[in-house]
Amino acid sequence: MPPARPPALLDAFAYQAGRLHAEGVPLSKIADAAGTPCWVYSHGALESRYRAFDAAFAGIPHLICYALKANSNQAVIKTFADLGAGADIVSEGELRRALAAGVPPERIVFAGVGKTAAEMAVALDAGILQFNVESDQELERLSQVASQMGRTAGVALRVNPDVDAGTHAKITTGTAENKFGIEIDQARAVAARTAALPGLKLSGIAMHIGSQLTSVEPYRQAFARLVDFARMLMNEDGHKLERLDLGGGLGVHYQHAPPVDLASYCAAAREALAGFPGTVVLEPGRWMVADAGILLARVQYVKRGSLKTFVILDAAMNDLIRPALYDAWHPVIPVVEPAAGHGLETVDVVGPICESSDVIATGRSMPPVAQGELVAIGVAGAYGAVMASTYNSRPLAPEVMVKGGAFSVVRSRPSYDEMIASDRLAPWQIHRT
Ligand SMILES: *Cc1c(COP(=O)(O)O)cnc(C)c1O
Repeated sequence: MPPARPPALLDAFAYQAGRLHAEGVPLSKIADAAGTPCWVYSHGALESRYRAFDAAFAGIPHLICYALKANSNQAVIKTFADLGAGADIVSEGELRRALAAGVPPERIVFAGVGKTAAEMAVALDAGILQFNVESDQELERLSQVASQMGRTAGVALRVNPDVDAGTHAKITTGTAENKFGIEIDQARAVAARTAALPGLKLSGIAMHIGSQLTSVEPYRQAFARLVDFARMLMNEDGHKLERLDLGGGLGVHYQHAPPVDLASYCAAAREALAGFPGTVVLEPGRWMVADAGILLARVQYVKRGSLKTFVILDAAMNDLIRPALYDAWHPVIPVVEPAAGHGLETVDVVGPICESSDVIATGRSMPPVAQGELVAIGVAGAYGAVMASTYNSRPLAPEVMVKGGAFSVVRSRPSYDEMIASDRLAPWQIHRT
C-alpha cells in the first residue's frame, strides 16, 4: 500500500507507519536534532519541480531563472544550479547568494524597481546576462554606470502589459496602477532611448504580472501583448531582440482547487511565442519551492475558551508571516497520524507573539492535537524563511534539507549571544570604572 499522503502535501511529505516523514526521515527525528520551529525542505521535491518545468519547455530555447526571493537558502539555490538553472535576483544580496551557490553570471537576470548605482556596478562587474529595467531614470543611471566602467549592460525593458492577474492585491504587479514596469505605450520611446544611450544593449523585453496566479487567462493576454510589442520593435523599429522574459507568478495549491497547471501555462507561452526566434526566459519562484517545504512546530498549549479554542505553537508570524500579511491559508497537519474515525475540531492556530495578527490558521477544522505534539505547516517552502524576522527577539528558525534517508541542517539557529552581539551601546552609555 502506498504511504498515506495528507491532503495538500506533496508526496515528499507522507505518513509512513503512522508518522509524517520528509522523504525517508521521520519529522520527529528532525525536531529532536534541530529543535522547533524549523523549516524542512525536500531535495527530491525541489529537483522534480525543476525537472518538470524544464521538460514542459522542451524543444524551445529557454532559460529558467529561479526567482531567489522565494527561498534563497544556499542549499536550495545549489540544488537548482546543479540542474542548470539561472537566477532572477532583486538585490546585491541575492546576486551574491546566486554567485556563491554556483549560478553562472551569464544565467542571472536582475529585476526590481529600485536598483542602486552600487548594485548595478557589482552586477556589471560580475558579468550578468541582463538588467530588467523598469523606468527611464533607471535606464539613464545604468547607462552612466556601465559607460564609466567601460562595460555594456544587457537590457530587457520590463513592460507593464496592464493585465489584472486576478491575484491578491498585495502580489499583483501588472496593471497600470502598480509601481512595476514601463507602461507599454511609453515603452517604444524607452526602447529607442536604450539603443541610443552608451553602455547599453537592448536585448529583450520582460514582464511579470504578479504572483500566485490561479488562472492562465491573464498570462495569455499579457503574453500576447508582450509578443505584439516585441514584434513591432523588431519589424518596425529595427531592434534586434534576443530574449523574451515571461516572468514568474505561477500559483501553487494552498487550499482550493489547483491553480493553473503547468501544461496549460506552457501551452499559452508556446502559442504566443510561435515564430519568435530568440530565447524565452522564465522566472518561476513560488512554484519551484512552495510544496517542497514545511514549517515544523510543536504545540505548546491548547487553550479552550468559551468561544474559541486556541492551539498555541512555538512557531509564529515572525517565522511564517504569510497568514498575517496576505490572509494566506496553509495546511496544518499532525505529525502523528490521527487514528481512524477521529473527529474534527475547529481551532485557531496561533503563535506566542504579542499581536492579534499572530495567526497561522483561523477557524481551522482539523483533527484534535494535544500539548507537546508536533505539527507540520505545509506548502511553506516559498516566501517562508526568507520573510522571517526576529520580532520578539525570537531567533530565526533553522532550515533542514532532506534527501532520501539523510538530512542536514542547511542554516542553523543563531544563538542568543549572536543576536545580542550585533547591538552596540553608544559611547556615553558605557560607564568607566
Ligand atoms: C517575485 C518575482 C518573480 C517570482 O514570482 P513567483 O510568484 O514566486 O513565481 C519573478 N519575477 C519577478 C520580476 C519577481 O519580482
